Amino acid sequence: MRKPQTDLSVAGAERAQDAGLRFARSLYLPRVLGLGFGTVCVGSVLRQDGAHVLAFAALAANGLLWPHAAYWLARRSANPYRAERRNLAIDSACGGVWVALMAFNLLPSVLLVVMLSMDKLIIGGPRFLARCAAAQLTAIVLTVLAFGFHFRPETSMSVVLAGLPLLVGYPVVVGYMSYRLARRVRDQKRLLAELSRTDGLTRLLNRRAWEEVVSSEFERVRRIGHASALLMIDIDQFKPINDRYGHPAGDAVIRAVAAILRDTTRRHDVIGRYGGEEYGVVLPGTGAAGAQTIAERSRARIAEAVLVPKEDLRTTVSIGIAVHDPGDADHSAWIARADKALYRAKAQGRNCVALDSASTIKDVK
Ligand code: GH3
Ligand code: MG
Ligand code: MG
Repeated sequence: MRKPQTDLSVAGAERAQDAGLRFARSLYLPRVLGLGFGTVCVGSVLRQDGAHVLAFAALAANGLLWPHAAYWLARRSANPYRAERRNLAIDSACGGVWVALMAFNLLPSVLLVVMLSMDKLIIGGPRFLARCAAAQLTAIVLTVLAFGFHFRPETSMSVVLAGLPLLVGYPVVVGYMSYRLARRVRDQKRLLAELSRTDGLTRLLNRRAWEEVVSSEFERVRRIGHASALLMIDIDQFKPINDRYGHPAGDAVIRAVAAILRDTTRRHDVIGRYGGEEYGVVLPGTGAAGAQTIAERSRARIAEAVLVPKEDLRTTVSIGIAVHDPGDADHSAWIARADKALYRAKAQGRNCVALDSASTIKDVK
């Protein structure tokens, strides 16, 4: 029995179809050009050998019509990617037919085999190349069986000249194709790296990425001895917002608070979403007094803002501050002190800022 398709599997199939179509599209022009150049080369051998008119017709069909038919077949296929791989194997097999029909004329035969191997290697690696090479060899054997074995390896000057477009043009086309492929992979790698560091709801750093920043800031300050402070921020009484207005409104509040934090901090301060409705901010080069000013400014701005205009939704936040202390064993101890200060702020009645006790003493000194 077939598994019922879920929305997710439908979306996945659509994405695969899109990727397959992009693959087919990216091969269209290289195939038109490559087979065009190949037609000139093979045609010159057929002309020299006085081949039958049907051989020319077959060459024209393969070299000039097939690239368009291949693209059409891939586009109308339910799985364009698989269809395109099959088309590539057909390219190799057709090349094999022409090698045998050219009576193994050395230069054009080597050219066809090399060009039809190079692109397979780039597109599908050694295994795909092996599959296509097997198709090519089979085609050579079948053509020899059908039309007899003829062997005239000498290559004339006119055939050398006719082979030049393929020799020069196709490597350029394939080179450009692999450059575009490499660029796409590089862009996707960059995007993936960025996504793995970003929180989807707020576009802030996610917890892991933010903790990495805290860790490197911890080490940096330990080395050079500058001031640095951490804020831990938690939305007050957030659960009732979710309960009364629903989760989407809660999400909107989380986003709006993130936007205000971005607005009220400086460019080199680093904000992260630490948990559900908790945020962390690294304030490099800032001591207790500066951190208190920034925290107070953010707190006040959030308290006076209408966060979700549709519902006239407002909220407040509590903020804990801890300045860097070389006595901390690691960055987690620094975060833990800021967290403790945050819970002091909650205990003091919320909508306020509390400084970690170690930070206060240092600040007073
Ligand atoms: P307090 O003032 O003591 O912080 O009270 P609180 O209600 O804010 O504290 P609590 O930690 O109990 O509530 C946090 C709630 O945040 C619980 C959870 O349902 C909600 N939450 C966590 N992540 C998300 C999210 O991504 N979206 C929404 N809408 N709610 C979330
Ligand atoms: Mg809360
Ligand atoms: Mg919380």
